Amino acid sequence: MQKSKNSVRIPYSRQWITDADIQAVVVALKSNYLTQGPLVPRFEKKIADYCGVRYAVAFSSGTAALHAACFAAGVTVGDEVITSPMTFAASANCILYCGGTPVFADIRSDLPLIDPSAIIKRITQKTKAIIPVDFSGLPADYDEINTIAKKHKLLVIADAAHSLGATYRGKRVGTLADMTVFSFHPVKLITTGEGGMVVTGNPEFFERLVLFQTHGITKDKSKFVKRSDGDWYHEMLALGYNYRLTELQAALGLSQFKKITQFLKRRTEIAELYISFFQNVKELSYIKVPGDRTSAWHIFPVLLKNKSKRKQLYDRLGRQNIFTQVHYIPVHYHPFYQVKYSYKAGNFPNAENFYDTELSLPIFPKLTKSEQNFVLRKLVECLD
Ligand SMILES: *Cc1c(COP(=O)(O)O)cnc(C)c1O
Repeated sequence: MQKSKNSVRIPYSRQWITDADIQAVVVALKSNYLTQGPLVPRFEKKIADYCGVRYAVAFSSGTAALHAACFAAGVTVGDEVITSPMTFAASANCILYCGGTPVFADIRSDLPLIDPSAIIKRITQKTKAIIPVDFSGLPADYDEINTIAKKHKLLVIADAAHSLGATYRGKRVGTLADMTVFSFHPVKLITTGEGGMVVTGNPEFFERLVLFQTHGITKDKSKFVKRSDGDWYHEMLALGYNYRLTELQAALGLSQFKKITQFLKRRTEIAELYISFFQNVKELSYIKVPGDRTSAWHIFPVLLKNKSKRKQLYDRLGRQNIFTQVHYIPVHYHPFYQVKYSYKAGNFPNAENFYDTELSLPIFPKLTKSEQNFVLRKLVECLD
């Protein structure tokens, strides 16, 4: 809620839409196609090329993209899929959409990333896949995770909603898992309003993703089961959805994509300023990026040494029009998961401890240096 008309409202994240973005959408609106035109494939190719992967399929949201990736992985009734409790609910919900069972494995004690040794303990005969989450933009431990997956014949679906543009041991996010899911929600690196994408190097996954995106219907003659009745003929081969991105959204995505390097650079600068400032602040710590990876800095979490101060700090900053956020309420805390899957507080101590102490500070490309300094000034005041 805005307090007064004169004061600047500083959220934890916000999109940056330019006149060029608006113009790009207007051009799309005036074109022949509002959906199923040339811009979505162009946007898919941009993201695929950027990641250095062969295939990309756009979806109407990151959540739809996660659903599609689970479908393409063959997740179905009776399957278990392992994911992190320290994430947005969509990372686990996508498993349920396919009839599978989400199984949580705790995060590392030092980083908010799923712990490979905890994954191993949760594997059963029913395990089908692992969904690591690149929390805050920091890639998960993909070498360890892929080794486990290979050994147990599991698929890896990266929830990279936070980490477009990040790298791990010299490789770009998008190349680290069987399928990688991005989101283009307004708080993410680049936006299409709502939108998502799955990238993969595997042609079979690609075909299943394409099918799922459009009702499970194909017009590809080579895939027909029956004989074609004529040029109008198409077949529905699986139960799919209408999960398409529109041309207007792809136009915005293509225009936003031009700024992706600039956006990443700015997020990194903001993170670096926070980090250098927090060297001398004893009340809190922050996430230390391991030397083998880079973060896309989707969020900037701080961890309060004294967890009883978190709510007070959140409230006090809010009164200064600085709207921090808490990422995340652990998924297994939600009533739906507690009632249906009998998860309880205490099941995942590292995720729970992280939640208790976490606060996400403003970080987004449009945040100016003076706004960030204002945030830091108020933060120090509010900590007292
Ligand atoms: C944003 C987000 C999603 C879902 O993306 P939407 O585009 O909002 O549907 C999934 N997982 C994580 C970790 C996210 O942050």
